[in-house]
Amino acid sequence: MTEKIKIVFLGTSDSVPSASRNHPSMWLNYKGENILFDCGEGTQRQIRKAKLNPCKITKILITHWHADHVLGLPGLLKTLEMSGYRKTLHIYGPKGTKLLMKSLLKLFAFRTDYQIKIEEVNGKFFENEDFYLESEKMDHRVPCNAYNFVKKGKLRIDKIKHSQFKITSGKHLQKLKQGKAISYKGKKYSAKTLTYSEGEKKVSFVLDTAFNKKISPFVKEADVFICESAFSSEIKEKAEERYHMTAKKAGEAAKKAKVKKLFLIHISQRYSKNLEQILKEAKKIFKNSYLPKDLDSLEI
Ligand SMILES: [Zn+2]
Ligand SMILES: [Zn+2]
Repeated sequence: MTEKIKIVFLGTSDSVPSASRNHPSMWLNYKGENILFDCGEGTQRQIRKAKLNPCKITKILITHWHADHVLGLPGLLKTLEMSGYRKTLHIYGPKGTKLLMKSLLKLFAFRTDYQIKIEEVNGKFFENEDFYLESEKMDHRVPCNAYNFVKKGKLRIDKIKHSQFKITSGKHLQKLKQGKAISYKGKKYSAKTLTYSEGEKKVSFVLDTAFNKKISPFVKEADVFICESAFSSEIKEKAEERYHMTAKKAGEAAKKAKVKKLFLIHISQRYSKNLEQILKEAKKIFKNSYLPKDLDSLEI
C-alpha cells in the first residue's frame, strides 16, 4: 500500500484572526516527515487541538516574515526545547531568514539543546528518494516564497517510445527505471525520453502575493493547490495595493495551471459572515474550489 500525504489546515485566517480562524499554518505529513508551512500566532494550540505532536516536526517552511506568518515560532521553539526535542530542526525561508531567525533567537534568549539549521532558499532545496521541496519567489511587500511538496512517482518504461526508437528489452531497462541515461547502439538516451512517472503527487502552497505570472507554471498540475484569497474582486484595488490575491485570481491561476483542487485560505475576517462570497467567486472560474475551516484535513 502506498503511503498517503496528509495535510491539516491549522490556521486559515489572514492577519487578523477571528474566533474560528487562527493565523496561517499548515501541517503536511508524509511517511516520517512532518513539515510545518508557516507558523502564525497560536499555531501551537492548533497543533494540540489537531492531536499532532510538535516534537515530530522535521522542517518548518516560512513563506515570509510578516507577523501573521511567524509569530508562533518563538513559542513553538521553546516548547520543543522544554519537550526534549533532539532532532536537527530545519527552517527554510526567503532571503533575510537567516538574519531574522538569529535576531529572534537572541531576542528570546534561546538556549536550545537541539540544532536549528536555517537556509534561505530559491528553487529545489531538498530531495530524498521519496519527495522533493522547491520554492519560487512571489510578489509581496517583503521577500516571499511559494512552496511545492512533490512526492516522487515511480519511473515506468514508455513502451511506445521504445518501439519508436527501436529499443529492445534488456538490462538497460533497469538503468532507465533508476532515472539513469543509457547508451543503445551507439546513441545516448536520457531516462526522461524513454520513461514516464506514475503516482507523482504535488501539493502547492501560495501565500501572500499579488497575482503574478509565476504562480501558474509553479503550481502546474498540482493535486492540491492551497492559495491565499484575502479579498474578493469587488475590492480588487485594495488587493493589488496590499499585494494580495482575490478569489477570482486564485481561481484563474488554478484553471490555467490545470490543478485538481483549489483550497482557499488566508481569508479576511471581513468575510466571516459571508464566506460564500469568496467561494462562489472562485468556483465561477474553477469548479473544484474549497474553503477549508481550521483543523480540516485531507489525504491524497
Ligand atoms: Zn498574511
Ligand atoms: Zn504578508
